[in-house]
Amino acid sequence: MKKPFAIAIHGGAGSILRARMTDEMQRHIEQALDQAVSQGHQILAQGGSAVDAVVCAVSILEDSPYFNAGKGSVLTAKEMVEMDAAVMNGEQRQAGAVAGVRHIKNPVQLAKDVMQQSGHVMLFGEGAEEFAAQLGYDYTEQDYFFTDRRYEQLLAVKAERATALSESDYPDDHQFGTVGAVALDNNGNLAAATSTGGMMNKQYGRVGDSPIIGAGTYAENHHVAVSATGMGEVFIRCGVASDIAARMRYLKEDVHTACTAVIQGDLKKLGGHGGVIAIDSSGEIHFGMNCSGMYRSSIDIHGRKQIRIDAYEV
Ligand code: ASP
Repeated sequence: MKKPFAIAIHGGAGSILRARMTDEMQRHIEQALDQAVSQGHQILAQGGSAVDAVVCAVSILEDSPYFNAGKGSVLTAKEMVEMDAAVMNGEQRQAGAVAGVRHIKNPVQLAKDVMQQSGHVMLFGEGAEEFAAQLGYDYTEQDYFFTDRRYEQLLAVKAERATALSESDYPDDHQFGTVGAVALDNNGNLAAATSTGGMMNKQYGRVGDSPIIGAGTYAENHHVAVSATGMGEVFIRCGVASDIAARMRYLKEDVHTACTAVIQGDLKKLGGHGGVIAIDSSGEIHFGMNCSGMYRSSIDIHGRKQIRIDAYEV
């Protein structure tokens, strides 16, 4: 019997105002989501691993300037890019993460190398970059990540003295462009990956939920793989991704019930706006959010593809 495989990705959650979304921007975002989900799926279709599929999909989104990860990352208060990423393989619960990296073109690939080659789970800042150099990674100048759009957003946020959300061009246009992927491969292995520039105007040295295993990223075979996006501080405090897995493990909840309980429960109560993508061991996919939209795409076990943006009319 053919074993199921499937993949889901996200490009951040929040309120996406139609007025701020040009046709051109929408086209680029949809194209990037399409390319990421399709290439990740192709790896699975050829018998590749869930880890390789999620890293491939996230790398494609990191290369697009339209998401808050890799190129196009938001800027810190010091007008720099500092990126976080993580990968988790549900098979033996191996995990790798990097935080606060500034010169790595694809942080998710470095997170995978941390998982597979460092003997550690997380490396941060200069130590992570030194490890990358030892592995032959190129040193990528900050200029590569920098986009005028993010700089203008930073100035606007600073002018408002807001603490900031990654896409906050306007106070009512909050969107978090973090990217992530979850997959089930045909060996029954689950994997998750997340990559982000964090929050616009964040303090130098701030680390969000994305690279924290069990908060923004988690995978456990037989249960679930999760990648989150939203206000990282609250996602960390709620241990969102591991809480979803724990509900499935101990309460025997299905993926939809577990995600809904967490996202619409304490997380929402504590002001943790955002969402998750999750996939279970049968390939069932859940997109959950407590805000109005999430860039997302999936190819399910039947090969059906969907791409959604959900921009708001105001
Ligand atoms: N969760 C990310 C962080 O707090 C932000 C996002 O999802 O856009 O770093």
